Amino acid sequence: MQNLRKKGLWFITVIAISISPAFTHDYDYSAVIKKIYHEVKANNAGKVADYIPALKQADPDNFGMVIATVDGEIYKEGDTAVEFAIESISKVFTLALALQDSGEDIILKKVGAYQTGLPFNSIIAPDIRAIPLQNPLVNAGAIITTSYIQGANSAAKWGKTLAFISTFAGRELKVMNDVCESELATNQHNRALAWQAKASDYLLGDPDDAVIRYTRACSIGITCEDLAKMGSTLANYGVDPFSKRTIISAEKVKFILSMMLLSGLYDSSGPWLLKVGVPGKSGVGGGILAVVPGKFALAVFSPPLDESGNSVRGVETAEKLSHELGFHLLKQR
Ligand code: GLU
Repeated sequence: MQNLRKKGLWFITVIAISISPAFTHDYDYSAVIKKIYHEVKANNAGKVADYIPALKQADPDNFGMVIATVDGEIYKEGDTAVEFAIESISKVFTLALALQDSGEDIILKKVGAYQTGLPFNSIIAPDIRAIPLQNPLVNAGAIITTSYIQGANSAAKWGKTLAFISTFAGRELKVMNDVCESELATNQHNRALAWQAKASDYLLGDPDDAVIRYTRACSIGITCEDLAKMGSTLANYGVDPFSKRTIISAEKVKFILSMMLLSGLYDSSGPWLLKVGVPGKSGVGGGILAVVPGKFALAVFSPPLDESGNSVRGVETAEKLSHELGFHLLKQR
């Protein structure tokens, strides 16, 4: 009897250990991010974005990082609750909504999946093919993508966009009005891109309306913790690890992550692929998201940017973490 009881206790202990969160992955994420945070904090290179006047106010010393796992665990270090403008990272989530509303075919036909926008043998020759040489993660492509979000009118389309992006964060997000107004007053270039796309029959509806909704989405305020949670749904193939709800299909997540691999870090997408090796997306507000499929999302916030518009500390953190945890998708055994 005593023996049986002992065996039972052993059995329960073994089960408890195997399902405890500490044993669901091989690394102590908490210790790893603490170490990398202190190593990277000393890097003072880069410049805060100033082409959108309101972004100049960002504090260059802010620095935070968060890992949100597919098991719904959060590991954080530094300034993880400071609000900043999501900027281009919104493109990932507006793409998700446009894919849901209008489907992959229209996005491929009207936006494209091109990395450089130039043909394979181009020096910098203008391309003459009658297809859009964009992708949904550069400005022109994102504005066209935004035009394929459906709704009865502009207000309905915007309301739906904000609610959809908020679902990923698990809380009601809001537009940072100062950033939005500042960007709307200085976004002549984006308006030109939208009208050019309209002239080429790529953009649906009113180009100015698409730019306004695109700009509002870029001005949504998030924290580093929000961003990690938003990414964790992509890491978990469309199911939110916190609410357990399916926000988007795994098929669409594949499309989105492919675009992030293709062009998430602008002209630095190649070096990012080599050194980090997972889908990523940056924004000029200083946020960076890296998605490790089936494992976790990493979010970093640090406003100083490199020449390509990517957070300097964000890129260094992702590179170091990829090395430390060995999560490059094409790593050697
Ligand atoms: N709203 C910014 C723009 O359109 C986004 C740029 C970015 O974050 O890369 O220029």
